[in-house]
Amino acid sequence: MKKTLVVKTDNLTKSYSSIEAVYQCNISIAKGSIYGLLGENGAGKTTIFKLLTGLLIPTMGKAEVLGMDITKCRSDILKNIGSIIEVPVFYEHLSAVKNLEIHLAYMGVSGLEINSVLEMVGLSNTNNQPVSQFSLGMRQRLGIARALIHKPKLLILDEPVNGLDPTGIREMRKLFLKLKQEENMTILISSHNLSEVEHVADTIGIIAKGKIIEEVTLSEVIQKFPNGLEDYFFNILKGDNKRD
Ligand code: ATP
Repeated sequence: MKKTLVVKTDNLTKSYSSIEAVYQCNISIAKGSIYGLLGENGAGKTTIFKLLTGLLIPTMGKAEVLGMDITKCRSDILKNIGSIIEVPVFYEHLSAVKNLEIHLAYMGVSGLEINSVLEMVGLSNTNNQPVSQFSLGMRQRLGIARALIHKPKLLILDEPVNGLDPTGIREMRKLFLKLKQEENMTILISSHNLSEVEHVADTIGIIAKGKIIEEVTLSEVIQKFPNGLEDYFFNILKGDNKRD
């Protein structure tokens, strides 16, 4: 049976004056999957995330998200996605609850349970504490809460476990798997923590110099590399990190 694609790009390219940050990139993400995008520093991951959320306009090629062209239907797409790209920005003088209330009002969504989402991300005891007093890990948790509180169909998370303690990392792993299993949510995640990606992702995309050079299921990776994703990752990068 043909899978429904939530993200599909066609030769997506983003050039800055001197470099091509993303180059003829073809990426396919099936509905209900957790897709781990892996690549070295500067490979183009954040640029792809910005292109998929309409924060950047492609120089060439196109990106379809939820069946719509991001350059033509950005506001319809944004209602249905949640994201953390780079460092999340908040109203610093306000509490976690107030920040989420403002976000829901902005998204035009009501009736969602702020307290239960804060509990999911381990922030239910922050009461009136302003975000300015939050640690890095607490801010990251709040970013994840904000990304998922409006029940998006697609979550785009750039380094979501950055700054989290081991308990937080484990909790987020369980949360992502629960969102996939119970809500059939599609999750696109980037991380330099390969073992973490191995715990949650079912599909892996490897990006090098702005181009997707491999797209495989995690079970295919494990079949070929029983020691796991790290061996696979270095093997792929050693073999081919050049553009055609
Ligand atoms: P990291 O893992 O370090 O976060 P990344 O894979 O997310 O890296 P990008 O941030 O997408 O990489 O950057 C891809 C390339 O584009 C890099 O060479 C970077 O220097 C370049 N780049 C990113 N933003 C700009 C910009 N505004 N102007 C010029 N070049 C840029």
